[in-house]
Amino acid sequence: MDKNTRMHLRVYKDLMELAASRENPTPMVGLSRVMPDSSLTLWAKLEWYSPSGSVKDRAALAMIRGAIKRGELNGRALVEPTSGNTGIALQLYANALGLLPVTVTIPEMVPEEEVLLLRLLGAEVVEVPDGACPRMPTDGAIAAAKALADSPATTDQYHMLYQYGNPDNPQAHYENTGPEIAAQTEGRVTHLIAGLGTGGTLMGLARYFKERHPAVKVISVEPAEAEHSLFGLRNLEVAMKPEIYDPSLVHEVIKVSDRDAYRMAIRLMRKEGLLAGPSAGANTYAAMQLAQRGEVGTAVIIFPDDALKYVHHFKQYMDQEVRS
Ligand code: PMP
Repeated sequence: MDKNTRMHLRVYKDLMELAASRENPTPMVGLSRVMPDSSLTLWAKLEWYSPSGSVKDRAALAMIRGAIKRGELNGRALVEPTSGNTGIALQLYANALGLLPVTVTIPEMVPEEEVLLLRLLGAEVVEVPDGACPRMPTDGAIAAAKALADSPATTDQYHMLYQYGNPDNPQAHYENTGPEIAAQTEGRVTHLIAGLGTGGTLMGLARYFKERHPAVKVISVEPAEAEHSLFGLRNLEVAMKPEIYDPSLVHEVIKVSDRDAYRMAIRLMRKEGLLAGPSAGANTYAAMQLAQRGEVGTAVIIFPDDALKYVHHFKQYMDQEVRS
């Protein structure tokens, strides 16, 4: 069987082929029930179909490949500050490629499921006293990873890919996620809605669409609260602005509260049958705001990961969301 036939039948020689790419895009699913009569046609881009279960799969693999290509690893282990998903993806690909265990510095309020998953995969987890959206200048997870990568005693043991400043992160979305969305919507996309974490997703998509389809509006979603539970997202009013993030490339920022995000994710589960995680809920809530304001067109909403790692955080919202 040739590669195209295999991919069409979803047969992959190994995990590396299963990673998302233009030839093997993540699925896009129409949302028809969660917002009936919406002026926007809504599509969910399901990033949890990547091997490591999140949007960070693309950036992690691109950063590892970049570091290997440039000869940066030199037998050193990776160390990375992450709210979970990047670490999970890095360790998964480190295992597939036979690299050393990854050291992950992680805010201690990240869900225990993520920490356990990291440990199951074989990562060394260093929990630091930090919020999901740490206040400047004490960005604890970043400082802890930098200390290992830069201090003379450990610098020959660790290499930090540094997702907040690594151009391979947005480049993964410029090269794959953007073209996938253009092809999957047959060029009809008018609005792109993605959450801001490192800004990799937003920047890669913004650059791609600015060049190819400049009318497309790129909407950034941030947590409304300073202390929030939208893991993986950053509120730039209180957190460090990632080096790769250029706010002039996004057309609008929509802030979403924990409550609105979690409740929307539950609506997505109950109305659409989609296991949306909190940041997928936040992005969909932002899409609803655009629709309520009468925006017209085809909106693609990034669904970064599913709900499984966050079930305990959903508990408090479970009964508020009325069944109908
Ligand atoms: N949602 C979740 C659940 C994430 O883990 C992340 C990554 N931190 C994002 C959204 C944002 O992605 P990016 O880093 O590309 O901005």
